[in-house]
Amino acid sequence: MTLAEALRKAAALGVARLDAQLLLLHVLQRPAGDRAWLISHDDDALAHEAGARFAELATRRAAGEPLAYLVGHKEFFGLPLQVDARVLVPRPDTETLVEWALEVLQGRNAPRVIDLGTGSGAIALAIQQARPDALVEAVDRSAAALEVARANGQRLGLAVRFRQADWLDGAGAGYDLVVSNPPYVAAGDPHLPELRHEPVAALVAGADGLDDIRRIAAAAPARLAPNGWLLLEHGWDQAVAVRGLLAAAGLADSLSRADLAGIQRCSGARRLELG
Ligand code: GLN
Repeated sequence: MTLAEALRKAAALGVARLDAQLLLLHVLQRPAGDRAWLISHDDDALAHEAGARFAELATRRAAGEPLAYLVGHKEFFGLPLQVDARVLVPRPDTETLVEWALEVLQGRNAPRVIDLGTGSGAIALAIQQARPDALVEAVDRSAAALEVARANGQRLGLAVRFRQADWLDGAGAGYDLVVSNPPYVAAGDPHLPELRHEPVAALVAGADGLDDIRRIAAAAPARLAPNGWLLLEHGWDQAVAVRGLLAAAGLADSLSRADLAGIQRCSGARRLELG
């Protein structure tokens, strides 16, 4: 079988062309940037074993497994992260939250930051990379997710301190920033079947998708430094509800920001300066 034939087979299974190319490069142990090479080597033979491996990955992709799990990595905010089914795949939309977080931290020296439900470590590691002076902690309730996050931190040489915890349980106080991409999908959401390969505990948060955001909003004010910010990612239709929860928790200046698709994807508010 040639490379071109392998790609045609994947297309016949229903795999998008780009995904098929990336899977083939992965099987050939070539970098993802080598698509031009692939196109100019259409007639190269694919060894039997590599062909079998490619067919298996293409079949799994056609059945809905995220590409990131199949190739084992995903880029987030310029960082190459290793990911697998123990953690949610980092989304480009979440880069909006990181950008906002970095703005909030501007002008603060050695700021204290905590990322709740860190998963692969994406948010915490992106902040630490951009702000080497920050004291970044990251927690997750899932021990399996923390293994992935810790391995990413070590491989990237970033000094984030990872700890197993449920939201703010056992956290200190005086944070300049509490940031989280918590589960926010409603239990009956019609899109859940599409996300079936990802950890349900990272996605679903009660009947309206707001159970975890309610807990975080209620607990955060006591942990924030005066003028510290709580920034949260949430669902496409939750911005008004989340700003309401932030205000009800006693936080001020609540705002929302749009993601790359123009959807109000994160909201935040700050603890008022005392006096
Ligand atoms: N953004 C994800 C999705 O809807 C959900 C992530 C989350 O619940 N934090 O595909």
